Amino acid sequence: MRLRTASEVAVAWPTRYEVAQSWAGTGLNNPVSRFPPHERARADAAVFGREGGMATVVMKFGGTSVANVERIRNAAQHVKREVDAGNQVAVVVSAMSGATNQLVAWVREASLLHDAREYDAVVASGEQVTAGLTAIVLQSMGISARSWQGWQVPIKTNNAHGSARIAGIEAGEIKQRVAAGEVAVVTGFQGIEPERNRIATLGRGGSDTSAVALAIALEADVCDIYTDVDGVYTTDPRIVPKARRLPKVSYEEMLEMASLGSKVLQTRSVELAMVYRMRTRVLSSFMDPTAIEPVSGESWQDIGTIVCDEEEIVESQVVSGIAYAKDEAKVTILKVADKPGVAARIFGPLAEANINVDMIVQNVTPDGKSTDMTFTVQASELPRALEVLKGAKADIGYFDVKSSDDVVKISVIGIGMRSHAGVAALMFQALAEKGINIHAITTSEIKISVLIDAAYAELAVRTLHTLYGLDKD
Ligand code: ASP
Ligand code: MG
Repeated sequence: MRLRTASEVAVAWPTRYEVAQSWAGTGLNNPVSRFPPHERARADAAVFGREGGMATVVMKFGGTSVANVERIRNAAQHVKREVDAGNQVAVVVSAMSGATNQLVAWVREASLLHDAREYDAVVASGEQVTAGLTAIVLQSMGISARSWQGWQVPIKTNNAHGSARIAGIEAGEIKQRVAAGEVAVVTGFQGIEPERNRIATLGRGGSDTSAVALAIALEADVCDIYTDVDGVYTTDPRIVPKARRLPKVSYEEMLEMASLGSKVLQTRSVELAMVYRMRTRVLSSFMDPTAIEPVSGESWQDIGTIVCDEEEIVESQVVSGIAYAKDEAKVTILKVADKPGVAARIFGPLAEANINVDMIVQNVTPDGKSTDMTFTVQASELPRALEVLKGAKADIGYFDVKSSDDVVKISVIGIGMRSHAGVAALMFQALAEKGINIHAITTSEIKISVLIDAAYAELAVRTLHTLYGLDKD
């Protein structure tokens, strides 16, 4: 049995709606609207909260930022800057770049069919190494520090081994030690599933989520994600050299960008940041550690990208980014009956097999009796999806199934779309002028996605980037 102490911070992650409900009327610090409208201007001016005082900051270092001991020393210089400024610091580390891939490969080599709990036991080890090394390096610089593995905190998760969700963090002891000036170096990517007492990992890229969750549990002023790029860009700069760094981007836009193909942050980390209004800054660890102002600074330094509330973004564009995802596959079911219940018979079995379906288009066939149904799944799930459809053929009743993974999904994203008409029309027009055919379309309030042939991906991204005025001069 575990006794709860008053200082223990137990954070569970409900939905945004539940959060709003549970805080309604309490007059307390509702994480959904951490900055009520009249306070937002002030919050913006103070940049990271507390006037003149210390700040609490979580600093996450990704795999390339801790790729070897020399890089760990460099990361430690960033930590030192914050410590010297009097800030309270917790650090979250990834495994050395390439380490997790190697661990995954070893597991697969041992057996393609393996126990997910043992997979987690193996792949969680990469972070253990970097956490210990980081603490040692910090100590050698005269900074008080200790490492924490997920289970030691503990960071509690559900039992979805391999892609577990954080269910809560009991950060009481870390909080006390951090307040007393010790740097806590926490392993990213992992936690403990308390029922069976097993190590669980959070899915690839999960250290971002560990960092944001810890920042929430510690009530940090900001979660700084140090990586190998200097921020979030309007699109992938490797494709469009004219891509620009976004100084600020809203939680909602970042969530779309992450789930639509931008690899900068794990999607779940953005979900958490959005629900709890945790400002999350993406910046490069390769910047000179002394060229960055410590977080408690009163002035706003224009580096990296801050993921924040949309009301903090003064100059916003209608479209703020263009994402693309290559790992899409298209499935077309030919000649299914055009009558009630058919969609359920197709998508029911796919859902049962845990296959995510994204875009769906149903065509009308001239004879009015049968129709074609096109949809997309993750390319890696295509073989399984085809298998499921084959198994359900008698029940669905179709003529044939065709598929292709030579497609990409291109998305334009921007909160400005809520108030501007014609964004989609412009997009379709521009693509048509370049002779690019659209296979499927989906939209939300703040994004439009189209599925096109992979061969046109770069042309489409470049065209749209220019079209919406995103090119840097
Ligand atoms: N090391 C893990 C991975 O490579 C987690 C992370 O780096 O975020 O996916
Ligand atoms: Mg990452």
